[in-house]
Amino acid sequence: MKKGFVALIGAGPGDKGLLTVKGAEFLSRAEVVVYDKLVSEDILKLIPLQAQRINVGKENRFHPVKQSEINEILLQKALEGYFVVRLKGGDPFVFGRGGEELELLVKNNVNFEVVPGITSAVAALCYAGIPATHRDYCSSFHIITGHAKSGGELAIPFKALVELKGTMVFLMGVSSLPYIMNGLMEAGIKKNTPAAMVENGTRSNQRKLIATIETLEQKAKQQQIQSPAIIVVGEVCTLSNSFDWFMKKPLFGKKVLVTRPKATMGTITQKLYSLGAEPIEYPCIEINPIPNNEKFYHACDHLDEYGWILFTSRNGVDIFFEYLNSKRLDARALANVKIAVVGSQTQKSLEGRGIFSDFTPEIFDGEHLAQGVAVLIKENEKVLVCDAAIASEDIVNVFKEKTIEFDRVHLYDTLYINENSEMVKELINKGEVKYVTFTSASTVEGFVKSLGDINTEGLTAVCIGSQTAEIARKYNINHVASEEATIDSMIEKLMEVSVNDDK
Ligand code: SAH
Repeated sequence: MKKGFVALIGAGPGDKGLLTVKGAEFLSRAEVVVYDKLVSEDILKLIPLQAQRINVGKENRFHPVKQSEINEILLQKALEGYFVVRLKGGDPFVFGRGGEELELLVKNNVNFEVVPGITSAVAALCYAGIPATHRDYCSSFHIITGHAKSGGELAIPFKALVELKGTMVFLMGVSSLPYIMNGLMEAGIKKNTPAAMVENGTRSNQRKLIATIETLEQKAKQQQIQSPAIIVVGEVCTLSNSFDWFMKKPLFGKKVLVTRPKATMGTITQKLYSLGAEPIEYPCIEINPIPNNEKFYHACDHLDEYGWILFTSRNGVDIFFEYLNSKRLDARALANVKIAVVGSQTQKSLEGRGIFSDFTPEIFDGEHLAQGVAVLIKENEKVLVCDAAIASEDIVNVFKEKTIEFDRVHLYDTLYINENSEMVKELINKGEVKYVTFTSASTVEGFVKSLGDINTEGLTAVCIGSQTAEIARKYNINHVASEEATIDSMIEKLMEVSVNDDK
């Protein structure tokens, strides 16, 4: 039987970029993943689809999974021969009970490794613009638990801490905040010593509170700061405003719905994430190659009949080449034909296949594509138009009008899907999400169909170019159109709109 193995991995404080390379590598090989509530959704998304997921940190705090049960689960799964990943928030050994989980494994001779994680005690500070130490202010840094072992008394050596004059970070301290602040004051700390709290550190819903020892408790109450949060005490807190970089990101904390198909979602979500937004993946369409597409196969078998081939999306390019490749043909099959594409994304996709486009219009739409090709085309050359089953007539109308000979093959169907629509409806109804991105007319159609007739008044759609915006208008959705039909231009527009909304 295969020998089991446990990797005890620190998942970091939440931001998916703070998972270590080694942790991510182990996670990608996991067969069983045991995780708790401090592990962020973004990190959970990295769990391989086929892996068994065991949540031992259920929200219901009246029935938490006992530590002894977690230890037992790890042992059992390892003995069954699995590659087990135990994911813990922050670092597994910083108040993470990592040690307790290893003891049973050691006793039973189970192989294990531990991957350190970035602890919230450092990262939440950093993302709040607070350096843990700074030579002008302190020469030590202390991490203290604000939570007593059950049945035990919380006994913090306040006097010793105050004398050290270092930066203090309290974890698990939200409910004992009054005790901690009073303890420090009784031990003689100056009442105006800077203090701070950082809630949901490194996540798009991070909040921070800068105060003093004397005012922190009151302010935390006012702002209803909740766990998970760290408490920081020390002069370094005064640097928070000038060193803040995270909450000053242009789209910080903004939830943005991304409606394009899963496979092509990456570019836009990555860009939103790096600007501080929280992209919510809500694919509203799915691309399905048309099965038994005889007309398309026939055209591919007679490529020498065409002077030009036109592609209107990267999906089209992908499906076209997948078919060619399935016949063991490659880019050389297109050596004698010119190729035009509708825009920069399609062009990139074509370049990925080793081919530069012969024409890409300056304005990325079907009509400009067709008009441009009409100028370049030689007499008697025939065009093959490869597009979607639901594509508009813009291209063929131009060719018909100019009596240019063409064949048109549809390469794929666009299906409207609505996974997670209940969650999205709730976000829209509560006003928690204000922006949605549409990268094609079909994403607007899919979005509208997925939501039924809910009120979208509070929502602003950022549309890729004017044609997509036209469809948004048809459905009475507040919208703006990007200047150019590119993701970068859409994001610029979104930033513009969100700055105005915040005014
Ligand atoms: N092993 C973890 C700490 C576990 S104790 C680590 O190294 O980070 C749990 C406490 O960690 C919480 O009560 C809170 O004080 C802190 N914490 C964890 N994640 C946090 C986050 N994203 N933001 C602020 N505090 C966090």
